[in-house]
Amino acid sequence: MPRKSCTECGARSKLHVHHKDRNPANNSTENLVVLCASYHLKLHWHEDRSKRIGALMGQRYAAGKSALVAKPQPRSN
Ligand SMILES: [Zn+2]
Ligand SMILES: [Zn+2]
Repeated sequence: MPRKSCTECGARSKLHVHHKDRNPANNSTENLVVLCASYHLKLHWHEDRSKRIGALMGQRYAAGKSALVAKPQPRSN
């Protein structure tokens, strides 16, 4: 087992085990990092945020594209 203190700040309470490969079934020592709750949440928050930003950019890009496609055609009558 990894040492019983947060790898980031050395806290010894509210410890979580973080799976580096995001696979909770992979419990090999190299895959586990001990983090305190706040560092663990922070880590995942940053990850989720970058994912969300990516998703937003994708949506914006898609919206821009569809806006171009949905450009109103000039009426001919
Ligand atoms: Zn910590
Ligand atoms: Zn984690």
